[in-house]
Amino acid sequence: ARSQRRIRLAAITNPLLEWTLSPSTRAMLEFVRAHKADVSWRFLRQRLPHAQHSLTELLNRGLVESYLADPDPPRPLVRQVVVLVELESEGLTTRQYEVLQSLGRLGGEMAVERFLTEARTTRTLIATLQKLGRVIVCERQILRSSDAEAVCRDTPKTLTPEQQVALDQLRAAPAGPVLLHGITGSGKTEVYLQAIAPVLARGQSALVLVPEIGLTPQLTDRFRARFGPQVRVYHSALSDGERYDSWRQMLTGEPQVVIGTRSAVFAPLPHLGLIVLDEEHDGSYKQDRPAPCYHARTVATWRARAHQCPLILGSATPDLETYRQATRGDILHLKLTERVAGRPLPVVDVVDLREELRQGNLTPFSRTLQRAIGTMLDHKHQGILFINRRGYSTFVLCRNCGESLRCPHCTVSLTYHRLATGEHLRCHYCNHGCAQPRCCPHCRSPHLRYFGSGTQRITAELGELFPHLRILRFDRDTTSRKGSHRQILEQFANGEADVLVGTQMLTKGIDLPHVTLVGILAADGLLNLPDFRSGERAFQLLTQVAGRAGRAEQPGRVILQTYAPEHPIVEAASRHHYLDFTLAELEQRQIFGLPPFNQLIALHLSGQDETRVISTAEALAASIDACSDFTGQLLGPAPCAVVRVANRYRWQLLVKNRYAERGRNQLRQTLSGFACPPQVSLAIDIDPLRLL
Ligand code: ADP
Ligand code: ZN
Ligand code: ZN
Repeated sequence: ARSQRRIRLAAITNPLLEWTLSPSTRAMLEFVRAHKADVSWRFLRQRLPHAQHSLTELLNRGLVESYLADPDPPRPLVRQVVVLVELESEGLTTRQYEVLQSLGRLGGEMAVERFLTEARTTRTLIATLQKLGRVIVCERQILRSSDAEAVCRDTPKTLTPEQQVALDQLRAAPAGPVLLHGITGSGKTEVYLQAIAPVLARGQSALVLVPEIGLTPQLTDRFRARFGPQVRVYHSALSDGERYDSWRQMLTGEPQVVIGTRSAVFAPLPHLGLIVLDEEHDGSYKQDRPAPCYHARTVATWRARAHQCPLILGSATPDLETYRQATRGDILHLKLTERVAGRPLPVVDVVDLREELRQGNLTPFSRTLQRAIGTMLDHKHQGILFINRRGYSTFVLCRNCGESLRCPHCTVSLTYHRLATGEHLRCHYCNHGCAQPRCCPHCRSPHLRYFGSGTQRITAELGELFPHLRILRFDRDTTSRKGSHRQILEQFANGEADVLVGTQMLTKGIDLPHVTLVGILAADGLLNLPDFRSGERAFQLLTQVAGRAGRAEQPGRVILQTYAPEHPIVEAASRHHYLDFTLAELEQRQIFGLPPFNQLIALHLSGQDETRVISTAEALAASIDACSDFTGQLLGPAPCAVVRVANRYRWQLLVKNRYAERGRNQLRQTLSGFACPPQVSLAIDIDPLRLL
């Protein structure tokens, strides 16, 4: 938790000084006084205008002090319980004895609150029983847990021969990472489950890392179905109290399975017997902003070695770095090449959107996709439509002056959202929001036009085309409430909707038997990002989305719409050719000296004063250049693709490091001699994932 800046009245002040204060400063002083002479700076800033100015004045005159307070730590949750001492009727009224008997029937111990309703009794009666020595009332610590919903238990499945081979090799594997490379629907999760069972039986614990919280409800249920209450979920959406109790539970050292996102890699499990990193290629395992920058895979590798246990890296599309380690024999490479029960991978039809336009189809749904949705409905199956953007449309443009509506704090366009409360614009970088203007802020023209499609617009247009289609939307906007991920997925799984329209969030981990159709509305948005990894990401994403179709008895079909059907990545993804894609991509990376052939290190500078940020970046580049024994290659300085975010200007330098540890040490030395001005912040990111 962060400590908090607070403002309090100074112990000794001179009242005469107060007369010289400006009215707003005086108001602040009165405000602090009115709030027990001690308030948080955050609260002050929210409530008073010109707060910074007034505070400076008060501090300068010694009328108030500013200090850092420790945050309130979470505490154990304590409940009063009533405990049975002696079940004896002597000296009791009939009613008292009845209550005593019901406590016996309820197990001899219960939270007082609950017992009052269960036994329909009163605190007075319990107090009497306590005086008579028949019960005692005392305090017990309760462990908070966020999800105690019961799930049906299941039993281990009979493994396919491939799964069995993989499991046997895993059991014999040395400590450290192992790649479990299995196509979508090949049953990787079942392998995890059966690898974990003996770990628990030995009295050790297992840690299971998953990329996003959208994934956890279904996956968590599968683990709970197998291991019951030994499974615990640990992620950033827990309340402080729940998180605190999860930690305490882990520290007990009892055998348990902890499932969590990135930061759960630090879970304090004392007897770790196995770590699983599912979808190991996923970018959300990397934390970059805010610092500390780390990759959960790197930390997990380190932990696996420290605990002398295996780390399973599972994926259908392994990260190129991991893949290279596996093919070089640095780590074990286990393969699952077939879907369970000989189910085929879905057939992928690539549809050329240019042709649709020529044929006069102006909707975002190709004719092939429309027919496929019709067939899907006839068979009472379900479908998933994937779109790269949330919101209604990607940007708003003035048709008179050609300006797009931009965020005042960032160099990006605002996204249009249509809400129950009205239309509004939102920045997807800094979350700045404003009402949709009626006319262009630049030229006052009322002719604004909405370009590009987001989930919201697709949902609306799909509804117009198929009035009877029942549609659910799954993106960050519809899942912001706690528990809403689970709710939407459950509604869909229960057949309450025919189509799920969503973003990246629905690409992973969703295993629904009735989904036979997957539509990818426009692959192009993925292919053309200015980042050398965009191809790798596009391939992974397309494979993951396609993999949601045909996972049970019914075969699946994928319709991939694009303006560039001949693009090599579209081709490789449509034929499920991981190897073709990977070999071509690795060749490119080698030519340009990019990861995994060199390590990248990003030096990220940001600040509110643009000229100062640029001059600092240049000075930093110069001091690295001046270092004679530096073996890395320096690129930049260059502005980030989005130069300004939340009023801060961002520039970066990139270092290509060929000599791992040695190169990092050289860089560390250079940096330690560099004086970064206080107005500019410098962040060092080893193996950066986002170069945008
Ligand atoms: P992956 O994680 O590789 O995408 P899953 O583990 O989700 O694949 O498995 C796909 C489906 O096949 C799931 O519904 C799962 O219950 C089922 N399954 C996995 N292994 C077996 C098996 N050995 N026998 C029968 N069904 C299995
Ligand atoms: Zn205009
Ligand atoms: Zn913004």
